[in-house]
Amino acid sequence: MRIRLFVLALSLWSLTDALGAGFESIKVVKASEHGHIIAVGYSANIGVIDLEDGVLLIDAAINESKLEELVAWVSSQYRKPIKYIMNTHEHADHNKNNGYFIERGAAILQQPNKSLGLEVQALTSHTQNDKVIFHQPTGWVFAGDLYSSNWHPVFYAGGTAGVKLSADIIKGFGDSHTLVVPGHGIPQSKAIYLTYVENTLLWINAVKERYAADMTIEQSMQDKELRKIAMEFIDIEGNPNCYSSNQFRRFIERTYSVIEQELKD
Ligand SMILES: [Zn+2]
Repeated sequence: MRIRLFVLALSLWSLTDALGAGFESIKVVKASEHGHIIAVGYSANIGVIDLEDGVLLIDAAINESKLEELVAWVSSQYRKPIKYIMNTHEHADHNKNNGYFIERGAAILQQPNKSLGLEVQALTSHTQNDKVIFHQPTGWVFAGDLYSSNWHPVFYAGGTAGVKLSADIIKGFGDSHTLVVPGHGIPQSKAIYLTYVENTLLWINAVKERYAADMTIEQSMQDKELRKIAMEFIDIEGNPNCYSSNQFRRFIERTYSVIEQELKD
């Protein structure tokens, strides 16, 4: 029995070894019949979506040295060309490889036809031009940096209204089984995402109270309740780097500016 188990373990090992050969950098976060969510090194989450006539890549921004490996991996999985690319927003950690894929025949999919199973909604929240991309066959909502499951929220372009609007849009796609794919971090259920939104609004309100009470940034940094709310954002993955060095100060400073702006409007 022991020998048989050993042989089984050995054959399983060689099988996984063969499957993984040559693709050390590709981390499959989630797989479905119609697509994959992958990450390459420390990249943002990348959507790989199987469309009839080719593959769509969402936010395929990775280290240049890994691009060939990514293309080979897509081809080994799908046996189709990379035909389309899309970005949740125009930050380099999401779109810096667009040129590479366009040179190789891909096109940016602007407003996809619903027959592809894709729906897109534009808004201002993390940046002036954010997009939420919903793929019906996989049930995945690509939220870009409107959501992060390993970092505090960054809502500085759209403020409170942008946070609420992103929640409305994301809530409106799919059903209770829908997976919300953050720009960074592990995809989560809609329910967990909505708790994150509630916490974001709680954060903005709590900072607003400190701002109204003329508390300085330094005083807010020492405020136990603010820190407690802020720490909720990193509970899912327990990322301790989120508030190291000046991150916490920056988070408060930027929230103060958002509040200042909103009081002016
Ligand atoms: Zn990002």
